[in-house]
Amino acid sequence: MKIKCPKCKDNAELYPDFSCVVCSHCDLDISYGEYVRFVAHNDATYSDILGDYAGSTEGQSSGTLDEWD
Ligand SMILES: [Zn+2]
Repeated sequence: MKIKCPKCKDNAELYPDFSCVVCSHCDLDISYGEYVRFVAHNDATYSDILGDYAGSTEGQSSGTLDEWD
């Protein structure tokens, strides 16, 4: 299904089995878990919607997110 790309804000595609998020606009290709962590990092409101994932990653370093640039 279509979701907002966390990197370029265009339309990305979430696989039906939630295994992967792919964006053809910026060549994004990450796991859904990585996507959730990225979104939660950038938008606090998503942390509530995706509480299960955000909660499980609390306390982790955000250092890996900086490697996207
Ligand atoms: Zn993108």
